[in-house]
Amino acid sequence: MTDWIEQSNMSQPFKIYQIPLWEDNYVYVLKDNQENKTAVIDPGGFDAVQNFLKKNNLKLDCILSTHHHWDHTGGNLKLKREWGCPIYGFKEDAERIPGIDVGLKEGEFVFVGSLCFEVLYVPSHTLGHIAFWNKENKILFCGDTVFAMGCGRLFEGSPEQMFDSLGKIKKLPEDSLIYCAHEYSLKNAQFALSVQPHNKELKARFKKISHLRKQGKATVPFYLKEELLTNPFFRAKTVSEFAKIRKLRDQF
Ligand code: ZN
Ligand code: FE
Repeated sequence: MTDWIEQSNMSQPFKIYQIPLWEDNYVYVLKDNQENKTAVIDPGGFDAVQNFLKKNNLKLDCILSTHHHWDHTGGNLKLKREWGCPIYGFKEDAERIPGIDVGLKEGEFVFVGSLCFEVLYVPSHTLGHIAFWNKENKILFCGDTVFAMGCGRLFEGSPEQMFDSLGKIKKLPEDSLIYCAHEYSLKNAQFALSVQPHNKELKARFKKISHLRKQGKATVPFYLKEELLTNPFFRAKTVSEFAKIRKLRDQF
């Protein structure tokens, strides 16, 4: 597996690096070029992130946690010890987010150098799940809330809560780029096809994704627009339709 993938283009005032971890996790490192500040989002492990920072001569300025699960926070304490950097997470979930220093609420802002992220409260996968939204550049770090053609399992919340959380994300501009925390696209696409076998865009996306995965390439990030066309959870019109699809996915 590659050590990391650079997911940004020259015209942007920042860089995003995607670090694959274990089977299918993604950790993101965001570097703001204007003020030379670096953040890591959901560091599930320490070593991969630390190696990345060393090899690229970066120092870490803050850690952003979308939710408490160990595969997204496992590196928090060691990175904090190493870099003395603050950890941001959802205020009401402070007891479960290792090393949290700054508790955030819906609608508050976090800065990574010149980049401003709005906190979106998107509960259901866990009850303390948040996403980080940068309006200027239309990028979203959504943790385990949305995946390509899928959504997070409802470990703690209700179908209604996830339906509402996805509803919040649905309202963002269609050309927003979504950086989710797992590479689940292929299995999700297979499931999505079982729900919407005649969806043309979905069939095309399945092809594209299968091809990328065969080459060992990442299918994340992706545009919100693609989700609106192909993601069965986004396309569910009612909570009960959503709940039915979620149940089917759990058994798939
Ligand atoms: Zn999770
Ligand atoms: Fe996860």
